[in-house]
Amino acid sequence: MFQMIRSLMNKLVDGSTGSLHKPDGVGGKVSTDRQRGTFIGLAVGDALGAAVEFQRPGTFELVTGYRDGGPHRLNAGEWTDDTSMALALADSISSSGWNLNDQAQRYVNWLQEGMYSVNGRCFDIGITTRYALAQFCATKDALTSGNRSEGASGNGSIMRLAPIPIRYGHLYPAKLNELAGFAEGSSLPTHASEQCVSACRYLATVLAALIQGEDREAVLSPDWKPLRQLNAVHPLHPLIQEIAHGSFRHRNPPEIVGSGWVVKSLEASLWAFHEAGSFEEAVLKAVNLGNDSDTTGAICGQLAGAYWGESGIPEHLRSGLARMDLLETALAGLLL
Ligand SMILES: [Mg+2]
Repeated sequence: MFQMIRSLMNKLVDGSTGSLHKPDGVGGKVSTDRQRGTFIGLAVGDALGAAVEFQRPGTFELVTGYRDGGPHRLNAGEWTDDTSMALALADSISSSGWNLNDQAQRYVNWLQEGMYSVNGRCFDIGITTRYALAQFCATKDALTSGNRSEGASGNGSIMRLAPIPIRYGHLYPAKLNELAGFAEGSSLPTHASEQCVSACRYLATVLAALIQGEDREAVLSPDWKPLRQLNAVHPLHPLIQEIAHGSFRHRNPPEIVGSGWVVKSLEASLWAFHEAGSFEEAVLKAVNLGNDSDTTGAICGQLAGAYWGESGIPEHLRSGLARMDLLETALAGLLL
């Protein structure tokens, strides 16, 4: 009965949702608006943060919209590796199904040929990713190319995660472990440490629940039932567990930082998202933490986009985004 009422409420509230995406007939109500919001939100957060990447908080004029510049000298609305890698992952899933070697090869195509880039070249790549792709080129084995050591726990796999909850989110909640398995697998080619893998499993589950219209407070609660299910199968890394149990609620900057470390990056993204009143407020809070601002923005943008949907992203942020055609192609492939 509760499910029926919730479904009815969603229909009433989410007027923009014309179609349901339930490829296998599994799971709750998936909203196309929220699926699209997850991917577009990633790119919007990435593009907003690009202009102040590597700058310490308090040393730059606060970001309020797209602006030119930053270390890669981009034009306003242009995005970086976070979105490029998400586009590569999406293209792999829609063209080849689930194939880790194909995913890694498409990252190599981006690195070597500038495919999936906003301007035709690879201009922004993390150290861990570069090393892993060199490994892959040598071994052609994406299952072992990612560094498993805890010291290599960058945020490079959660920043590109959106295609997983968009394509496989229907597995939630009935087949939660399968969804978490896809999230874990997507991390391995470049980021195979337990911290990175745990972060992907947790974030994909949160995004899938938000895409299905679950309540934000409930999803981010330490008592959230799916969190217990994730831990029952394979306990999350203790540092990811601490975040899932609400570390972002009782910390504030400077304890919250826009770091490239997956743990602090995920925490910062949830800090910016959990009490924000709108998509825009959330992503601006995230990017104004500075430092790895584009990636904090990309992760927070996925959360905020999944929660508020594409229709919750202000028009000026959607129309100002560069190469929307690439995002539309990726979404068309994922939402078949
Ligand atoms: Mg970037």
